[in-house]
Amino acid sequence: MKYLDEFGDPELARRLLDDIHAVTTRPWAMMEVCGGQTHSIIRNGIDQLLPDGVEMIHGPGCPVCVTPLEVIDKALAIAARPGVIFCSFGDMLRVPGSERDLFAIKSIGGDVRVVYSPLDALAIARQNPDRQVVFFGIGFETTAPANAMTVFQAKAQGISNFSLLVSHVLVPPAIAAIMESPTCRVQAFLAAGHVCSVMGTGEYPALAERYRVPIVVTGFEPLDILEGIRRTVRQLEAGRHEVENAYPRAVRDEGNPAAMAMLEDVFEVTDRTWRGIGMIPGSGWRLSAEYADYDAEQRFSVGDIHTEESGLCHSGEVLQGLIKPNECPAFGRECTPRNPLGATMVSSEGACAAYHAYRRLDMVEAR
Ligand code: SF4
Repeated sequence: MKYLDEFGDPELARRLLDDIHAVTTRPWAMMEVCGGQTHSIIRNGIDQLLPDGVEMIHGPGCPVCVTPLEVIDKALAIAARPGVIFCSFGDMLRVPGSERDLFAIKSIGGDVRVVYSPLDALAIARQNPDRQVVFFGIGFETTAPANAMTVFQAKAQGISNFSLLVSHVLVPPAIAAIMESPTCRVQAFLAAGHVCSVMGTGEYPALAERYRVPIVVTGFEPLDILEGIRRTVRQLEAGRHEVENAYPRAVRDEGNPAAMAMLEDVFEVTDRTWRGIGMIPGSGWRLSAEYADYDAEQRFSVGDIHTEESGLCHSGEVLQGLIKPNECPAFGRECTPRNPLGATMVSSEGACAAYHAYRRLDMVEAR
């Protein structure tokens, strides 16, 4: 197959589904880690085509959704400072902090700019040497290499008016935390192919062995996901718990060594709080001591900002797979994409937004 459309071929999808149905003898619960996979599953109705009892639990792999409220508040505090140019990908501008969002800062005169790459922010810093330019660096192992490269270049080029507000998170510690939870129902994982394209698969065999769960690296198109589910169900039915790469067109077991070397140079592992989940030891990156001068949190002294999450939003339970978005009392009523109460409704990758966008509103009517 050469073209993207072919990864949605209905005849091939039917064959994969037939195989999944033929091999399934009892209920299974598996988690797709990535928000992009969640959207593909809901958009294509894959979860509704699976055998009765085979459940997809939507995992925490949406970078906007897991960025803690207090980090949003730190971004807002920095963006409101005179002389600051605050740069971010567009999806962060609507994420509500405790009281407002980045759009609100922009509307009262803050210089908040949407960029398409952290290197765009570095170019803005180069063009504005009398201003402080901050890039909001969030996300998983996928977005981290570009952010690391940008800080590396800032240092190499002597651009001292650039800094990074860092909130990077790592998938393998999150898988361990999910499996350690007393309420865990997950029996297998579809691992995120784009994360593995950077980091490889080397961290997964130990997790599969320790928790006795199959982990199948999977892509994002309908056939990718069905093939991942097919392989996962086959393992579960056979009592196996192995790591398989069902996305070899993008993922090599060794990952991307150049990106990994850059990450190791610029970042170091730290404990990180995940929105709705809490602190997971060793689950994030911060700038290493060598690059600490580029840490916006230190430069603007916002480390003391601490914020409690609203009790109204159940996104923590959604992110842990304990409830489906449509089981939240506010879903589709008080909480909609136009008036989101939580990050999982704001983010284009969020599970609540996926349920709202792709026909799950009927479930609200049925309540
Ligand atoms: S529907 Fe809205 S309030 Fe409910 S969990 Fe999702 S984001 Fe939070």
